[in-house]
Amino acid sequence: MSIINCGYCKALCLDNPHKLCPSCLKKALDAEETVAGYLRDHENATLDEVHAATRVDKDIILKMIREGRIIEGKLSYACESCGAPITSGRLCRFCLEDVLETAKPPEKENPEEKKTREHFYTKDW
Ligand SMILES: [Zn+2]
Ligand SMILES: [Zn+2]
Repeated sequence: MSIINCGYCKALCLDNPHKLCPSCLKKALDAEETVAGYLRDHENATLDEVHAATRVDKDIILKMIREGRIIEGKLSYACESCGAPITSGRLCRFCLEDVLETAKPPEKENPEEKKTREHFYTKDW
């Protein structure tokens, strides 16, 4: 068993799948229970509404969504890039497209070949 820092209060604790010390883990589980209970009655609540109603940290709610413990599509929250409401992942589909776009390799272009061809056609015989 290794020792880690609690992901919430930074206290030293034994490594565990939640990365939390026992007291934060209990708080987190209580919070998750509260959120899950609220969502059972308010299926279409937004992140802000859940936060306002349950007083649970938004980070905890978001963490639950990312870890798949809140069913995707039930709760909307803000895109991390532009703030648009989304129900899954971390970015809205527009920002996701942007990310994919910039990740793509640049348009394939062969300037060498183009130059030779131009030269060939404009060659003064
Ligand atoms: Zn802790
Ligand atoms: Zn976005």
